[in-house]
Amino acid sequence: MDQQSLPPHVLIFPLPLQGPVNCMLKLAELLCLAGFHVTFLNTDHIQSRLLRHTDVQSRLKRYPGFRFETISDGLPEDHPRSGDRFIEIFDSLAATTKPLFREMLNSGCLSSDTARPVTCIIADGFLDFLLVVAEEIGIPLFYFDTTSPCSVLAYLSIPKLIDAGELPFNGNDLDAPIRSVPGMEAFLRRRDLPSLCRAGDLDNPVLKRVLTEVRLLPRTKGLILNTFEEIEGPILSHIRSHCPNLYAIGPLHAHLKFRVAEEMGSPASSSNSLWEEDTSCMTWLDAQPLKSVIYVSFGSMAVTTMENLMEFWHGLVNSGKRFLWVIRPDAIAGETWDRQTPAELQEGTKERGYIVGWAPQEEVLAHPAIGGFLTHGGWNSTLESIVAGVPMICWPYFADQQVNSRFLEEVWKLGMDMKDTCDRVIVEKMINDLMEVRRDEFMGSVDKMAKLARTSVSKGRSSYSNLDRLIEDLRSMSL
Ligand code: UDP
Repeated sequence: MDQQSLPPHVLIFPLPLQGPVNCMLKLAELLCLAGFHVTFLNTDHIQSRLLRHTDVQSRLKRYPGFRFETISDGLPEDHPRSGDRFIEIFDSLAATTKPLFREMLNSGCLSSDTARPVTCIIADGFLDFLLVVAEEIGIPLFYFDTTSPCSVLAYLSIPKLIDAGELPFNGNDLDAPIRSVPGMEAFLRRRDLPSLCRAGDLDNPVLKRVLTEVRLLPRTKGLILNTFEEIEGPILSHIRSHCPNLYAIGPLHAHLKFRVAEEMGSPASSSNSLWEEDTSCMTWLDAQPLKSVIYVSFGSMAVTTMENLMEFWHGLVNSGKRFLWVIRPDAIAGETWDRQTPAELQEGTKERGYIVGWAPQEEVLAHPAIGGFLTHGGWNSTLESIVAGVPMICWPYFADQQVNSRFLEEVWKLGMDMKDTCDRVIVEKMINDLMEVRRDEFMGSVDKMAKLARTSVSKGRSSYSNLDRLIEDLRSMSL
């Protein structure tokens, strides 16, 4: 068959973490629905966890153009790939994965009688070495930044912050205002900048990586973001001054649901979990009254201390509210926690609480018993909560979460920012405010935002049209 008559072939390479893998797999499905061939490239480590805990392979069989490929991340199998040591993966990817990736593209092993050689690459913005290889071989590459656009703009503004003397500030005077991030002059403080900005020097490796991404961005064909125009229009306009070709195509989980229903007539089931989902919590939720439960989860990467865990636990029990709490097996720093409930918390936890190691979060947030979300403010969690119409308390851990929690409270009015404190009295008060005292105040903006988010992915609306434009651009670059 004439290769030119075959569909475009897009290679997608996510950052090997839960959030990006989840998000990019959803984009892969959307491109498959448009008839594309998609090769989804996972590191061996991520692929083995994904296959162990999900039925993703059988689910994706419905797309004849989809396939997984794997590549080594160069780290030994017993490396934790989490917490402070995650950063080590970047050197290892550049040293080991880069030449393997080049070889993979050059060898032609990704093409077949029915699939063209790769015509376009969609890569996480943090994987800058992919752009270098793509340019050598002559394949157009798009960045997909799976973090929040408000944090992307803060990252893009780092050179300006340095020039203006607003960085570094060595973690001091965290309430001082920040003036050099456009559109955020009125409310941004040092403590709301992405966490890497708290480092005392400009030499730290994560900051250098971000600056590389900022420098390389103009060399890509465009930037894909998991957001929708209606939530962040002014922010997106500022990002366009760095990268005019922007595609806001989210919230991707809602977008995929809409398009699968449109194309296939059945709703999408789309778990891409790297942990075993404990679905028993859904049965527990079924037995709880409407909007009575606060869901607590700090995502896939946050690691806390035993001391903080106890502050949250006391706050939750003292609030008198029902709670569903995800405590990952690796969530406590440097301690082996035996998962026993402390004696003084046993009664309150047994009466009103349910604890799991990992939950089917999208389903949980959509459950009618859920009335609030105590979250770390990861961008996927934030979008999932927005679509489900659930107000939030945000306790940011790192990366974009510090900016997200400021936007949550100050700009979107969807809940409260609890950053830089962890105290049982505050936890208890905020939970009561969210679930009861200030509930009506938050629900007005929450309902409005949920409607905007859901509408944006429907036919002809902003995210739907932006995805169509991305599909057309990927098609025309494949001619
Ligand atoms: N998640 C889940 N079950 C859990 C906790 C989290 O499925 O018990 C999913 C959640 O739905 C989200 C992702 O893990 O899609 C976490 O991504 P996010 O960007 O919120 O935070 P990160 O883990 O990257 O810090």
